[in-house]
Amino acid sequence: MPDNTDRFDTIVVGAGIAGLGVAAILCKEAGQKVLVLDRFPMTGGRMMSYDGYPGKGWRTEIGLHMIELGEKASCTALNERVGKKVEWAPFSKTVDIWDGERFINIAELVPMTKEDRAAFGKMLEKIALMSDAEIESWDNRSLEEWLTENVPQPAVRELFTDLGMIMTTIPHAIDMAAGEVLFIARDNLHNTRQVLQASYPIDGMEGVTRGLVEVIRENGGEIRLNTDVQEVLIKDKLAIGVRVPVKKHPYQEEYRILETENIYADRVVCALPIYKLSDIIDFNPESSPLPRWWLKRINDIKHEVTGLIGFMIGLSEPVVDPQKRCFFSALKMKHSGFPFQAFPASNYSDKITPEGKQLLHTDLVCEHAEASDKFKRERLLNLLWEDLKEMFPGIEDKTEWKLPYYVDGCDGLARQPGLVGNFKPALKAPGIPNLYFAGDTYLGRGLAINGAARSSMRCADIILEDLKR
Ligand SMILES: Cc1cc2nc3c(=O)[nH]c(=O)nc-3n(C[C@H](O)[C@H](O)[C@H](O)COP(=O)(O)OP(=O)(O)OC[C@H]3O[C@@H](n4cnc5c(N)ncnc54)[C@H](O)[C@@H]3O)c2cc1C
Repeated sequence: MPDNTDRFDTIVVGAGIAGLGVAAILCKEAGQKVLVLDRFPMTGGRMMSYDGYPGKGWRTEIGLHMIELGEKASCTALNERVGKKVEWAPFSKTVDIWDGERFINIAELVPMTKEDRAAFGKMLEKIALMSDAEIESWDNRSLEEWLTENVPQPAVRELFTDLGMIMTTIPHAIDMAAGEVLFIARDNLHNTRQVLQASYPIDGMEGVTRGLVEVIRENGGEIRLNTDVQEVLIKDKLAIGVRVPVKKHPYQEEYRILETENIYADRVVCALPIYKLSDIIDFNPESSPLPRWWLKRINDIKHEVTGLIGFMIGLSEPVVDPQKRCFFSALKMKHSGFPFQAFPASNYSDKITPEGKQLLHTDLVCEHAEASDKFKRERLLNLLWEDLKEMFPGIEDKTEWKLPYYVDGCDGLARQPGLVGNFKPALKAPGIPNLYFAGDTYLGRGLAINGAARSSMRCADIILEDLKR
């Protein structure tokens, strides 16, 4: 392969929050010469914002996003670590649940006696006082088991299961990892005195990654977009760089093998989700430089992800009171049959729609099998539209545009027993000491964006520690 003459301290593959975070820290704290590569034309990965799309004055995203903890979030801490600020809209005050006929407050969903309410408070106190070790001991067990052993009141169990569903996007307590739900609840209780809080940056999701991009550029780092990395180069058990395309043929995907060149670096960080790793690392056990057990583990869990199918809807006039800061949810929709989430993003930010209009994000939370099948997801979208017409009367007439979307692998590994906490893949490759990983599918706790931010700070710390050796 021809060689590119540039040489870098670190190459980061992926310009999502995790890759940008690792790169910003290495540029700023260690003065490293860093190259970030991404196959998309824009930075931000799954949090990318599109200005002026689908029309002037609108700023849309890949799909519905809200971030737990807002200014107390790990993604805020990541920005602050490199000297940047994220501006947040005030917290969402309510979660409105669709009961099939109307929206009710989450408190109305599960009728509780005075004793139940006291027991709920006691349960939260207990969670707030749990140690890391206690929480970790529940990473391989279900929320249902934790509730059975710790909470005798059925109503309290039911309410906490509903909250767990909103945290994990998994409908049944038997499938939720207790460790992760308890960790998220404890983190929220410590920081906000509520079980779950969600917030939205006033600029849309780009508000969280823009500062990281600036830090990389201000500190001599480089971000190359439209660069689909073909392979991480590994020689004699060391990562030596990456192979990238030099030319693209119009029928590339079908018939042609790319012409490529090599770019060299002292280390490589793969900041792309585990289900994309086989695009850049040889997963053939006969020839891969990585051990068989690791290849098998990644292959075994890479489809343990949830999917989202939904519409972003641009409305000529609001269908939700524009003063209301709310989040909508349903445990199971009447027509489509899946859990549902929605929120009016423009109620949190006046920068993302033309004046007087409303942007409504909606989605159904489904599994890989539904999200990855074109015919299933198109059928589901039609059913979701029937649900939306019942939930938001008049929506059809007020819809100026509607963008259907789907994501297979939306927010990291499914938060199931055995897939959270220390069970997630490590941030360093076994046997290749200068190959690292970062992102929401690797070690790092908290809801997806915060998990990705935590993993990027930890990954950068590991690299900084390795540099001292
Ligand atoms: C629709 C949707 C809704 C979501 N809602 C929420 C929410 O409400 N709350 C929450 O906390 N999280 C949410 N998430 C999840 C959140 O967006 C992710 O957890 C987070 O953005 C992951 O960041 P990352 O850096 O780990 O990965 P990514 O953002 O996926 O970054 C990986 C990057 O790698 C690039 N890449 C991949 N392959 C290559 C290659 N071969 N060469 C070069 N580049 C490559 C990709 O283009 C991408 O930019 C949502 C995600 C989606 C899609």
